[in-house]
Amino acid sequence: MSAAGAADPRSVKVNLTAGTGMEIEWKDGHRSSYGFTWLRDACPCAMCDDERAKSGRGIGQPAALAPGALPMFKPAPKPLKAEPVGKYAIKFQWNDGHELGIYSWQFLREHCPCAECGSGGAQVPAPASSQAQ
Ligand SMILES: [Zn+2]
Ligand SMILES: [Zn+2]
Repeated sequence: MSAAGAADPRSVKVNLTAGTGMEIEWKDGHRSSYGFTWLRDACPCAMCDDERAKSGRGIGQPAALAPGALPMFKPAPKPLKAEPVGKYAIKFQWNDGHELGIYSWQFLREHCPCAECGSGGAQVPAPASSQAQ
């Protein structure tokens, strides 16, 4: 099943100064908005992927504190810079120095956190489809 064009953005807005997140309007008219915290926790690079797999987190899920660990102050994730990667992706240079993640439009569309798409909305009773872990 390939919905041609669905993973092509018509417009992309990264609210760097406001620090609120990224908004994408897709060619099929769907709109997605991603908070920077979500995006940082969803970083698709091999390192973050590995870290998520080890701690059993999903895309965009914040790291849980280790039992007994003291909550440390961490500034909210925010990109210092965002730049396009070819025609297919965007990458961020985060304020914690990380910049390995390449967020393809397809990845972002697949993980659209809106309630309608369901990957981030708790109120959607969609059955968890075959997501191999
Ligand atoms: Zn990463
Ligand atoms: Zn959506």
